[in-house]
Amino acid sequence: MKLKSMRFKCLSCGECCRWGGYAFLYPDDVTRISEHLNLTLQEFINKYCRLVFVEYNEDGEVTKIPYLMLGRGENGCIMLDGNLCSIHPVKPFQCEAAPFLAEFLLDDEGAKAFADNCRGLGRGPKFDIAEQRYRLSVQNDRDGDYEESLAAHNWNLAELLGVSLPEPEVIESCGVIIDDEEYNED
Ligand code: SF4
Ligand code: SF4
Repeated sequence: MKLKSMRFKCLSCGECCRWGGYAFLYPDDVTRISEHLNLTLQEFINKYCRLVFVEYNEDGEVTKIPYLMLGRGENGCIMLDGNLCSIHPVKPFQCEAAPFLAEFLLDDEGAKAFADNCRGLGRGPKFDIAEQRYRLSVQNDRDGDYEESLAAHNWNLAELLGVSLPEPEVIESCGVIIDDEEYNED
């Protein structure tokens, strides 16, 4: 399924922060949020983050990429306060860009999960998905930059950030690979 357009208006219900998805953090997310909270990187990571490895399978070649992600409390994301994000002004790129992310726009399972949980879909202004492709391009560039930085540090995220990290959890495989054709097609 490829969406052509959709109506969307966030109702600030907080559901997308409660369901079982993951809030991944790029290094600049980690820096921005820890500064906002007046914490060192290490303090922020110790208090709020988990380390996961996501397995990407491209043509049978499996790559494991380490990501920090926000932890979860009883109510969903550890940063959720009631229905609202307690770090809204500095929330992770992934949260700020949702639902215009590859995980939702290019992946059937992700699109269904979002549609099942988000009451804001189908309401508000209509977004032409083709016009939103630049967001996929930004996401793709950010993933590429992250992987390049990791590769320069032997895929060692602790070394890249200059911190020590918690024990890793390997989570699921991810089949979403964005390629040029998908976000450049007419
Ligand atoms: S589930 Fe949808 S409407 Fe609710 S906060 Fe998330 S994006 Fe907004
Ligand atoms: S960081 Fe904020 S917007 Fe993102 S999942 Fe957590 S509470 Fe929701």
